[in-house]
Formats: sequence, C-alpha cells, structure tokens
Amino acid sequence: MLGVKCNRGPVKGEFAKILRDSMYNKFVFLDIDGVLNSEYFYSLTASGDRSLICESNLLDSYTKENIDRKTVERVLRICSETGAEIVLTSSWRLDNQCFYRLLPTGMEIHRQTPSLLWKYGTTCCRGQEIDEYLKKFPSDKYCILDDDTDMLEYQLPHFIQIDNCFGLTDADAERAIDMLGKISA
Ligand SMILES: [Mg+2]
Repeated sequence: MLGVKCNRGPVKGEFAKILRDSMYNKFVFLDIDGVLNSEYFYSLTASGDRSLICESNLLDSYTKENIDRKTVERVLRICSETGAEIVLTSSWRLDNQCFYRLLPTGMEIHRQTPSLLWKYGTTCCRGQEIDEYLKKFPSDKYCILDDDTDMLEYQLPHFIQIDNCFGLTDADAERAIDMLGKISA
C-alpha cells in the first residue's frame, strides 16, 4: 500500500483565523418578518418601486416579494465580519422548503431553533426556543435580531430589537458586529 504523506503542521493564516473563530460557536438568531422586510419595503413595492427586491431569478415569487435585498446584504456582512452562523427563528422555518427558498438570496442557512408550540402551545415565546437551542449548542457569542420582544431575561443583553418600520438597518448591523466580535486580525 502506498504511504500517504499528510502535512499535519500548524494551521496558519486566514484559515486558522476562521477555524479559531468558528470554535466560539457564534450565532445570529434571525427573524424574517419585520427584520428582512418592513413597512418601508412594502410601501415601496406597493408603489411600483422594485429597487429593494432581490435580483435572483431563482427566487420564488413569494420570497421575492417579502425579502428586502438591502437587509440581506447587512446580514451577510454581519456573518462575514464576525464568522457567525445564521440560526433561523422565524415562523418561516415551519415551511420545510424554507432553506431552499432562501438560498438564492445568498444566505446559507442550515440551522434553526426548535418549534416548542407542541410543548407550550400559545404561551410559547421565541426566547424559550432560543434557550432550547443554546442548551444544545452553548455559546455566549450570539445576537438575536427580532422585531418582537418575547425573549428571556438572560438573553436581553444579546437582543437587538429591530424597528419593523425599516427592518434591519446599518446601525443594527454595526451593533450586531460589536456584540459578536469581528474575526480577529
Ligand atoms: Mg418578526
């Protein structure tokens, strides 16, 4: 059998940085309605201004009509600058085609919080679902982007309430990047 030479030297450079940062399990808990869309977005599209519509032809029409591409760009910036992963908290996740539908926006979403509706019924709050996720994947490097406020008390320092009139803004993205910490230089 031929020997296979493995280079097991120390990992260096950009890859090492990404590896080091990903070990921190950084998460962006992401809602959609009121975060990736907004009253402003809908008022523009209703008036025929399509400038905030995502350009990809691979998007289905529902996704296209409900996602503001500027907010997607901000989410992508948060992820690329901090090395954080998106964890979907939105009720959109209850549609099992949702990840495929969102993929053409450029957001790679592989994770979601569990739905605890079966357990808590109508008293179920989003904070409980995030809590359940964090029990499985503990992290103190996370931020919650949501226009609703039903989070648990210990999560509040990580919570950025989004104004659903405008959706995720540059200022919100900056706060999220500060909270998560940039990939170290
Ligand atoms: Mg919402």
